[in-house]
Amino acid sequence: MDLSYIINELGEDREQYFNAIAPPIVQSSNFAFDTVAGMRERMLDEYQGFLYSRGNNPTIDILRQKLAALDGAEDALVFSSGAAAIFAAVLSQVQQGDHIISVKEPYSWARQLFEKLLPRFGVTTTFVDGTDTTNFEKAIQSNTRLIYLESPNSMTFALQDIPAVAALARSRNITTVIDNSYCTPLYQQPHLQGIDLVLQSATKFISGHSDTIAGVLTGTREKIRKIFISEFLNIGSGIAPFSAWLLLRGLRTLEIRLQRSAESTRQVVSWLKQQPRIQQVYFPLDPDFPQYELASRQMKGAAGLVTILLKAESRQQVETFCDSLQHFLMAVSWGGHESLAFPACAALSASDFDPREEKHRMVRLYIGLEDPDYLVKDLAQALEKMG
Ligand SMILES: *Cc1c(COP(=O)(O)O)cnc(C)c1O
Repeated sequence: MDLSYIINELGEDREQYFNAIAPPIVQSSNFAFDTVAGMRERMLDEYQGFLYSRGNNPTIDILRQKLAALDGAEDALVFSSGAAAIFAAVLSQVQQGDHIISVKEPYSWARQLFEKLLPRFGVTTTFVDGTDTTNFEKAIQSNTRLIYLESPNSMTFALQDIPAVAALARSRNITTVIDNSYCTPLYQQPHLQGIDLVLQSATKFISGHSDTIAGVLTGTREKIRKIFISEFLNIGSGIAPFSAWLLLRGLRTLEIRLQRSAESTRQVVSWLKQQPRIQQVYFPLDPDFPQYELASRQMKGAAGLVTILLKAESRQQVETFCDSLQHFLMAVSWGGHESLAFPACAALSASDFDPREEKHRMVRLYIGLEDPDYLVKDLAQALEKMG
């Protein structure tokens, strides 16, 4: 299916709504029936149509069709956050006594789920260094049901060899889930590499305007239907029609926003690599990145996020750099129009800062849609102020 078709036409039935170009926000909690027979049919199979907007809704349905097609999947569910998509995906695959293998540094709320919440229900997790596929194989137990991937992650960009891990999991009858937020379906389609369930935080690139929290989960119709009639309806964390409409609006410009951000990121990365105050620059499509070869093989592109390791002797120097930025906003998240800086040390209590720990001196930058020269000037003056 052509990307242009998916973004501009798929799922849009304009004759149903006055030939409006922008689809309506169907802000209705429920849908009426003419006959008991019609109502019964729907109540017996809510997955197939409109009954109640905790399940299906026409605005959300357009979005689901587009997001599924982008992933090369049969169906998609859209959640009120990426964290909810993670929760439903994982919960749907395990029961008491089961075991999960996860990459060692998944998104923080995935880690929280594995470490804190699931053990209360008898589900245990082994964290492995996913840069080496044999670590997954070594961690498999007789009760392993799920392998959880995130490639690349959004701080150090560690990758997993997706086709290799998927093949291993298939051979052992283990389900695979991947967090694909960094790449989006435009730069990586893990279903085509053998992954069962693909999720992403739509808050980031899909929304693209820093105004919506949402998550996406895609898979076969069979898998998605099973999650829909259980975890999805039961947790009740589906997206609202207005947020779905914002995501549809975001999708219209996804390709061009990614292109702009990717091009600017390349320019900023090559500048950052020449700066004496920067010890290292992490970007998966930089030839000096340790997993560059794998990244080039399994990703079609990379945009926005780049992490720098500052040469700093003190917390103060890192903070001075960040506090001096004039145009990069200091904030969590990414994928919007605006460039951002996220200092890893903001997640530490000040007294725990240790300059010998590389992690503590890392600052993640997100390169948004501004002119790259404008951003470089800002970075230059802030590095200058570090002293
Ligand atoms: C933001 C993010 C999430 C969580 O998504 P929310 O929409 O914030 O709930 C999950 N994974 C990654 C990699 C993220 O960056």
